[in-house]
Amino acid sequence: MTCPHCGASVSNHERQCPYCNSFLETKTDDIPNSAFEARGQQTRPMFQAQGPDTPQPLLIVLSLMIPFFGIILGVIHTSGGHPKSGKLYIILGALSFFLISCGTFLLPLAFSAFSVFSAFKS
Ligand SMILES: [Zn+2]
Repeated sequence: MTCPHCGASVSNHERQCPYCNSFLETKTDDIPNSAFEARGQQTRPMFQAQGPDTPQPLLIVLSLMIPFFGIILGVIHTSGGHPKSGKLYIILGALSFFLISCGTFLLPLAFSAFSVFSAFKS
């Protein structure tokens, strides 16, 4: 291939032009981590979030319905470059987990406590 910056012929394995030191764009998706580091990113993220950092309505609903899904989704989005929507999914997942916990443990407990209380009263 030829260097797009200076026109020198460079080996296909080179990521950097030996003549002008400019980085060569490779068209394959299989770019090693060192190429990402050279472009200013520390490590290649496990998941690269696509598009703008706006919460998706479908994922919000899923986070509310399945708490652990929301928390995992939030962690993935936060590490994948969407900290704003990632935090929202985590908060929604935690909120949903809290509400489900209330419904599962606290409401029957409160109901039985109320039954015992009214049984004593009569
Ligand atoms: Zn060059």
